Amino acid sequence: MSFRRIRIVVLLGLLFATASLTWLEQYIARGWKGPLVVELVPINGDRSAAAAETIAALKADDFSDIGDFLEREAARYGVQSGTALKLTVEPALAAHPPAPPQGGNVLATMAWSLKLRWWVYRQSGQWLPEIGTVKLYVLYHAPEDGRGLAHSLGLQKGLIGVVHAYASPRQARQNNIVIAHELLHTLGATDKYGPEGYPVYPDGVADTTLPEDAPQRAAEIMAGRYLTPGGQLTMPASLAQCVIGAKTAREINLDGAFARQYAH
Ligand SMILES: [Zn+2]
Repeated sequence: MSFRRIRIVVLLGLLFATASLTWLEQYIARGWKGPLVVELVPINGDRSAAAAETIAALKADDFSDIGDFLEREAARYGVQSGTALKLTVEPALAAHPPAPPQGGNVLATMAWSLKLRWWVYRQSGQWLPEIGTVKLYVLYHAPEDGRGLAHSLGLQKGLIGVVHAYASPRQARQNNIVIAHELLHTLGATDKYGPEGYPVYPDGVADTTLPEDAPQRAAEIMAGRYLTPGGQLTMPASLAQCVIGAKTAREINLDGAFARQYAH
């Protein structure tokens, strides 16, 4: 074989391996047969004392409302999986994940996504990729008045989330909403808000029996916000005020899991 041919075969092999890995990890993560395994890796996002302090005090229990949320919502779709989430807090990491490219260049985004997967693999310190384990990198930032955080993201390929969170106990519940949102992205859920941040109707509202402009009492997790009686777009107080809508449930395979559970 010529060198060129060998190169093509190797590249095709790599592509095939990556595609099979993606298929396998999605099959495991979206099966809802056992708890979803999540490794949360804290990172000091701005090298601040506040972030260092928050990270030092982190424990798995701080994220227990994410598990409660998943269990409650899975049960609502008829999936009884017992413990829905097995989350561990890993030692803090000094390195930052590669930042996503600015603008919507498809090639740049693809290159960055590969770079991020490679970075995650290198950081794991393992020889083999940890298939089926969701990796959530949470970058903590000291809260500063009037300064927003960079966009959090969740990638289905590689089961990777990069979450920007506030280093403040008062923000813990809201951080957990963002973490749950990105976690569901890794399982295939899509965003359900429009360009202005308004929930897409009906998929992005909690109670779809209400008309489009009606105030809601809870938010659909992939919309992230809801309309209050005053017509304000508001973030829910905690995951107790969030639901998984029917479309999101389909996207993360909750209905598939239900069908399998009662197939025989
Ligand atoms: Zn999103």
